[in-house]
Amino acid sequence: MSTAAAADAPDDAPAPPPVPVTAFERRFGHPPGLFILVFTELWERFSYYGMRGLLKLYMANYLFVTIRQTLQGKAYDGHGDPALVKGWAFIHRLLGDPDMAHLKECIETKAAALVKGDPEHKIAGVAADVAHDIAVQTCQANEHGSVLYGWYTGLVYLTPLLGGYIADKYLGQRKTVVVGGAIMAIGHFVMAFENSFFLALALLIIGNGAFKPNISTQVGNLYAPGDHRRDRAFSIFYVGINLGAFICNFVCGTLAAAWGWHYGFAAAGVGMTFGLVLYLVAGNRYLADDELTKRKARQAADEKAGKRLEAAHAAVREESRPFTKEEWSRIWALCGLCALNVVFWAVYEQQGNTMETWADESTTWPVIFGYAIPATWFQSVNPFFIFTLTPLFTWLWKRQERVGKEPTSVAKMAIGSIILGLSFIVMIWGAMVVGGGKGSWLWPVSCTLLLTVGELYLSPIGLSLVTKASPPRIVSLMMGMWFLSSFFGNVLCGYIGKLYTRWPKWEFFGLLCVLGVVTGLAIWAFNKPLKKTLGAAA
Ligand code: GLU
Ligand code: ASP
Repeated sequence: MSTAAAADAPDDAPAPPPVPVTAFERRFGHPPGLFILVFTELWERFSYYGMRGLLKLYMANYLFVTIRQTLQGKAYDGHGDPALVKGWAFIHRLLGDPDMAHLKECIETKAAALVKGDPEHKIAGVAADVAHDIAVQTCQANEHGSVLYGWYTGLVYLTPLLGGYIADKYLGQRKTVVVGGAIMAIGHFVMAFENSFFLALALLIIGNGAFKPNISTQVGNLYAPGDHRRDRAFSIFYVGINLGAFICNFVCGTLAAAWGWHYGFAAAGVGMTFGLVLYLVAGNRYLADDELTKRKARQAADEKAGKRLEAAHAAVREESRPFTKEEWSRIWALCGLCALNVVFWAVYEQQGNTMETWADESTTWPVIFGYAIPATWFQSVNPFFIFTLTPLFTWLWKRQERVGKEPTSVAKMAIGSIILGLSFIVMIWGAMVVGGGKGSWLWPVSCTLLLTVGELYLSPIGLSLVTKASPPRIVSLMMGMWFLSSFFGNVLCGYIGKLYTRWPKWEFFGLLCVLGVVTGLAIWAFNKPLKKTLGAAA
């Protein structure tokens, strides 16, 4: 229908009338397509974060050790053989084994904790020699797990570059999302079998690359340029992401603790399947045409009007025009910021890595009505704070804007990184108080509260800065670069995480604190020059 309309439009046709507002839009303020995208993404993130919440502990306490925890957080009562995991021998060679001298402290603390047991959670102590064996294996597996976790969570941010390119050029966003969602669902089910662990990770990395960038751009497709509802739509979308990230742990983490790891992974697959079915059933009706479809329609219209060559020449002229000096300075400014963001993400992403290990090994979670809260629920704390704090900060910035005191985007990012660093002071203090035992759940939760404030100051602000400051014709590329900083950040997160097993805990958290603060100060140093080149966009 839109194709026919475009084809018939004469050259100097007036802009098409705005899409009629449906009863649904009048009532809810947004087109129904937005809610289809929000719920599809909610289920996709449910599956992604549900699986990710189990990943580190699964590797360290189950998959890569021979004396295993068959149930998350419960006694080491199973036997396994990492050699049966296809590809492990190869990956293990790549990773190498850590020098045992580095692991001394980790082994001693872990062995002592195992001997003591955990009466509150009805876990009996283990004989000293067995405890030592378990500790050696777990400490090694923790380091390997940290690096692998870093590569996995990194690579999921590298493939979106490819996924975006394929959608723009060949398949269109709609089809690419379906292909990506299906590959992810298969990946989650494959993950439920331990031998195919690496195949599952590969499928998830590829599937996510196809799915993630293209579901987000479709939110934008629903709104005409200049429609003021677009920003608000992205906030609703971000809340959807975090609702998925919030509820998943109660399902996947609980299943892993009650029935076994594989049920947790399979539940993630069921979630992704829900999302996919919803998208397939409702998407066709309510979503806007994607960019490729629109471009093809425009080409067909131009061809019909005999303007093909003319249009092609105009496009080439625009594409080969060199960037102006001003455009170059914006590009370099964004590159500089993205490079600094690598450190932000490397510290931030410790949440699912070393902080999850802390939540598992060094935290006493409450027992509610006889039910011991599993450590994986910790992963729900950050998304919970995201959707509770977002309205507060939106309100604060609006108020600051009214009195002309709203910080620039760059200043906000600097503040975000500094707050992220400072949040780890809580953990330095916690590590000193808790020592080798188990401490209150308030330590990691309060750290996460502050860390989330830091995230709100940097992550969504950075996304919007990219779209504002980038020369329009390379905005997707610059967005790809933004994701690239998450890629490097996550990989670095894995390597930094190795120090968790080697250093005293308070020193490790001290390092995270310094990295966050120093990066914030470096971003701050960019504020003035960036303000000059970015003007109002800064
Ligand atoms: N947590 C957000 C998501 O899953 C964004 C993370 C990032 O940009 O690295 O969509
Ligand atoms: N806060 C992350 C993202 O913004 C989700 C998470 O780490 O659980 O949406």
